[in-house]
Amino acid sequence: MTSKTFKCPKCLSIAQVEQIGHLETLACPTCGFTQSALIVPGEEVSLFSESKKVRLVVQWNENNPIADQIARLRRLVPHLADTPMIDLLQKAKDCEEFDIGSYNEIQADKLRADAGGYGLTLVKCAE
Ligand SMILES: [Zn+2]
Repeated sequence: MTSKTFKCPKCLSIAQVEQIGHLETLACPTCGFTQSALIVPGEEVSLFSESKKVRLVVQWNENNPIADQIARLRRLVPHLADTPMIDLLQKAKDCEEFDIGSYNEIQADKLRADAGGYGLTLVKCAE
């Protein structure tokens, strides 16, 4: 179960969003507003996030071994750590664009900044 925050649509104060399986529930401590939403399975895009989404893809550095870069990518992007290394290597070999998922602008900018510390380059693509 993960927990995150989102602006309450009613009073605009910060509310907790709890995710259980594919169901997200927002509960506002200020006005008591609650709302539930289903996440689209397979896409893992939260409905309680800023509306504009960007896709992030990895730009591989040709001077570094790909396995080394994937190992660093797994530390940067926690959900990739659940995917077996061999599958990630296969995916990296099969397609030039290695998609790490959809994020809102704020998350995307933070990830891109963090990626620099891992020697990785992330590029934004419009959804
Ligand atoms: Zn509220």
